Amino acid sequence: MNDQLIRRKRPLSLQEITLAQSIIVNAADWSKVLIADGAWWLVYPHTAITCNNTIVFPRNYYQQDFSQCNLDMQAWFVHELVHVWQHQHGFPILFAGVCLAIKGGYYRARAYQYPDLSSIKSFDYLNMEQQARVIQHYFLAKNGDRRYVKWLPQYRRLLKPLLQNPHNRHLLPRHY
Ligand SMILES: [Zn+2]
Repeated sequence: MNDQLIRRKRPLSLQEITLAQSIIVNAADWSKVLIADGAWWLVYPHTAITCNNTIVFPRNYYQQDFSQCNLDMQAWFVHELVHVWQHQHGFPILFAGVCLAIKGGYYRARAYQYPDLSSIKSFDYLNMEQQARVIQHYFLAKNGDRRYVKWLPQYRRLLKPLLQNPHNRHLLPRHY
């Protein structure tokens, strides 16, 4: 990460770690995670980028503590934490991100759309963005968000293996 593009960099707050634990307990070493704000808005004004253990938010969205934000911001934060989980378990998130970009996956956010929950055989059939999006929506469902709460049992079914054993590498995406 080019440090000239980074203005601030900080570890997770205690409340942010609690938030992370509330979704996927001990799924990653959260003490290694750094939150930064950067100039990615030059390219993607509304997109965060997770480089291994560093999550860079566009300057306008950077928060001192994401756990104190509204649910949608917390869910966005959770989405990025899923990329940290993928990275810490050996999934090449940067390479896979480039592959998705080459395939046009980020155009109109196609890479993020996941199939009907009941049709997803297993979590590892999802690409890295779909995995992050599913957990982002699961978080919203768990917190009573009306858009997702009705599918909470299906999110639970799909995520059960991950919630039971977040260190199972077989749950990482099979495909880039
Ligand atoms: Zn993502």
